[in-house]
Amino acid sequence: MSRKSDRRNDELVFIPLGGVGEIGMNLYLYGYGRRGVYQWLIVDMGVTFGTEYEPGIDVILPDIRFLEEERHNISGVLLTHAHEDHFGAVPDLWPLLGNVPIYATPFTAEMLKSKLGEMGLEADLPLNTIPMGSRHTIGPFDIELISMSHSIPEPSAVAIRTPQGMALHTGDWKLDKNPLTSAPTDERRLREIGEEGLAALICDSTNAIRPGISPSEADVAVTLTKLIGEATQCVALTTFASNVARLRSVAQAARAAGRELVVVGRAMYRVIEAAQATGYLDPELQFHEETAFPKLPRHKVVALCTGSQGESRAALARIASGEHPSVTLKEGDRVIFSSRTIPGNEKAVGRVQNALADARIEILTDQDGLVHVSGHPRRGELQQLYGWLKPDVAVPMHGEGRHLEAHAELAEKLGVKQVVRARNGDMVRLLPQPAQIIDDVPVGRVYRDGTILTPADDGQVRDRRKLSFAGIVAVSLVLTTKGELVADPEVALSGLPETDSHGISLAEIAQVAAIGTVESIPRPRRKDPVVVSEAVRRGVRAAINQAWGKKPVCTVLLTVL
Ligand SMILES: [Zn+2]
Ligand SMILES: [Zn+2]
Repeated sequence: MSRKSDRRNDELVFIPLGGVGEIGMNLYLYGYGRRGVYQWLIVDMGVTFGTEYEPGIDVILPDIRFLEEERHNISGVLLTHAHEDHFGAVPDLWPLLGNVPIYATPFTAEMLKSKLGEMGLEADLPLNTIPMGSRHTIGPFDIELISMSHSIPEPSAVAIRTPQGMALHTGDWKLDKNPLTSAPTDERRLREIGEEGLAALICDSTNAIRPGISPSEADVAVTLTKLIGEATQCVALTTFASNVARLRSVAQAARAAGRELVVVGRAMYRVIEAAQATGYLDPELQFHEETAFPKLPRHKVVALCTGSQGESRAALARIASGEHPSVTLKEGDRVIFSSRTIPGNEKAVGRVQNALADARIEILTDQDGLVHVSGHPRRGELQQLYGWLKPDVAVPMHGEGRHLEAHAELAEKLGVKQVVRARNGDMVRLLPQPAQIIDDVPVGRVYRDGTILTPADDGQVRDRRKLSFAGIVAVSLVLTTKGELVADPEVALSGLPETDSHGISLAEIAQVAAIGTVESIPRPRRKDPVVVSEAVRRGVRAAINQAWGKKPVCTVLLTVL
């Protein structure tokens, strides 16, 4: 009796800790239990990458303060697929959560192991490899994986059943009748779930602005076969390494054209190994390592390269700048960007393309033909999914504000009773209905800075931005206890011009300003080192600003003898 009434009070809640209102860093929580006493399932644990705005930062992670406090109530981590924005944070964040079990399908598990190996973290994670389409009990949740299509093998949606009802988390998906790797989206199972009764759909918004239906991966294969077949000189092609279907299409197109495949870039090898181990690539697939390139006839080669986003250390950027040890391209060669430029990477990709154009190498991109297709659902695909599932509640996720809003409006138009516009940190009660935002939890970004994880608001990256804008002036003062300068101050400048527009040394200007400032302070006040330091800092900064028109960072080191 008491149990039953307890159960009536149970709630299913959803909290995005990352991925809603931004691109990347997907980390979602589902909680079940009495209000405030939930048992958590973590779905995905992804990263995003630093830009020029975050100097020195390669990897950005979601802030999981909330989960660290709740670590004793976490049932497991379930990974929907092996894209960095969904599983890249596991090596950094999982150790903060105690010994929480991880669940992933074979390809995702293989990619995770390879990632841990590469980072030198051979830690024996409690990693449970589970089959596609399988059903499991994880804590209070009855979990079922449903096969979707995307741009990597084994993307899964997750049906989360609880005694109160069911939610479905789509992960990343699209509809593709011929995705060339794993099975197409399991329409039959999705329809059955719709019949069973779906309370809430938490769904990918990435392409919710784009009308229609996305083309198939098989259509891309046709274009690539043509473009490689008609080329007369060397062909290089770059794509996202994790797109195994694309790698296979390129390999087949190369074979059809009587060309040898040369694989260039470490990330490609990692994916090929994982795909061969799990049956997504023929273990017999013939390819050469990059060192073979100089020995092969150029017009008989397709070089499959990393670096579609212009990453400076990846293969294509090094080839374009002539710095690659084995692979060279020449006038008349053809480079195919079988990819999309992710917003924020335009400049980096532009640099690579300009270098290629300068060398009169032909460039083909998704502007020139169907050489790439997105792995996310357009409006027509969303409409079909809503038709199959008929959820009572929709919660758009995985997208920036405009994608989420376009998705929310579409769901309303499709007649979904309740659309919840949530953002990172919102706690959404999905069941019992009505769905509602009932609380919020702390969220944010954490930088992986060298080997240290640091909250994004700690300030050192902000300091780096300032330094990159106006450099730094360091002033060293030595005063007697009576407040007399023992010697002229030492100054060191970094990142400033040597002289002003009249040819006067900025170092001298700083030194004169430091002396002048000390002397302008009444003697009794000079005994207070804080007063002196702050006055000199301001004085030097103002003098440099007058001479240069910019305010550098200024640091004063004061010694009293
Ligand atoms: Zn993805
Ligand atoms: Zn994603």
